Amino acid sequence: MAHRRNTAPEVGEWLDTLVTSDLAADAAGDLGANVRELRRRRKKLTKVPAALVEEIARTASQSHQVWAAARKADDFAAFRPWLEKMLRLRIEQAEAVGYSGSPYDALVDDYEPGETAVSIARVLDALRAELTPLVAAIVKSGRKAPSEVLARSFPVAAQAEFGKRAAAAIGFDFDAGRLDTTHHPFCGGAGPRDVRLTTRYNEHDFGDGFFSILHEAGHGIYEQGLRADQYGMPAGEAMSLAIHESQSRMWENLVGRSYGFWRWLYADAQRAFPAALAGVPLDDFYFAVNESKPSLIRTESDEATYNLHVCIRFGLERALVEGRLAVADLPGAWNDAYRDTLGVVSPTDANGVLQDVHWSEGMFGYFPTYALGNLYAAQLFDAAGRELGDLDAMFAAGEFEPLLGWLRRNVHVVGQCETAPRLVERVTGASLSAAPLMQRLRAKFGGLYGGSLAASAAS
Ligand code: ZN
Repeated sequence: MAHRRNTAPEVGEWLDTLVTSDLAADAAGDLGANVRELRRRRKKLTKVPAALVEEIARTASQSHQVWAAARKADDFAAFRPWLEKMLRLRIEQAEAVGYSGSPYDALVDDYEPGETAVSIARVLDALRAELTPLVAAIVKSGRKAPSEVLARSFPVAAQAEFGKRAAAAIGFDFDAGRLDTTHHPFCGGAGPRDVRLTTRYNEHDFGDGFFSILHEAGHGIYEQGLRADQYGMPAGEAMSLAIHESQSRMWENLVGRSYGFWRWLYADAQRAFPAALAGVPLDDFYFAVNESKPSLIRTESDEATYNLHVCIRFGLERALVEGRLAVADLPGAWNDAYRDTLGVVSPTDANGVLQDVHWSEGMFGYFPTYALGNLYAAQLFDAAGRELGDLDAMFAAGEFEPLLGWLRRNVHVVGQCETAPRLVERVTGASLSAAPLMQRLRAKFGGLYGGSLAASAAS
């Protein structure tokens, strides 16, 4: 139904009447951006036959159900024909939309306008090449984070109170949003004046609840920073999935897992959770919240290993879409990639190739936006630091407005008046690269797991 409305002939006529000389004069303004973006989206939609749109929608919904049951039963064979069908339909969609390089380009464009298989590979291959030896060096160091302190008793009511105060302190406006409890943390809502966050709490896993709150608050702070006067129009919408994720990751990791942040908040944490944290030195707690170790599950992985989970998925889904990998061979290719990259192999497909929902709905091209988000976060954060001064010292003093204001001015209010690759070039002076994130990860994990690690991983 949405497709029929978007592609109705009169919508095209309305948009055409807006293409006037006034519009050309306002190419960089709201009207220019709105008309340009709406026409771009509509043009793509009109190329896809309604019957195909309908079949994709119906199949995705059924395939999702089959995937959920197959994951529970650890039964890839049951899911396989559905994944094959979703893949076939998405390739058909890509062929209908058209592309110049790879059919993957037509699909990724739905999530990350302006990116292609080649442009993503350029940054993610560089990231993977440098990150794999860093993660191996962390394992080889033999050092272990005192992670058991985070599994002590953290009463849920105190976690909710503590997390809410932290979210408010970094800038989430509780007069224009709220925080509730669900099974899966998320951020939703209805525009910048009503942003809904959710998280979950586990008495014996402080990090799960707390960092989910910071992550979702980061998404929410972005939503609250979008322009209310352009609500519902591209100029008032989030730029892309990767930029959205850059905001959540920045507050979760670059702020919330920084030393300065805990210099500011740790005494408070000890007061809120005396049974768990009394007598635990700040440095031990900091190491615990920054533990890094290869694991099987993407959503439970840490700041360093997370991107490798994404690089693996990008390589596999690109090969699927480009016809270089058959669905039947996917579980084996998955395990090989995990062995080569993270040094771990899941004994089950449930915790392997079946762990994520995305492919069941044919969302090929979505995964890279997670890693691109981490890269954008690091590069934007560095640029903010160059302009604002010592951010870590600000966090240690509980000062988050300077960073928040910088993000509001440089990212949030831009909406879709620019694409993400262009924004990062204009604001940081360089195109997106793996270097800022790698530099940050080497410094942090070199400090925690041994100074020599930074040098050995760099070679
Ligand atoms: Zn997120």
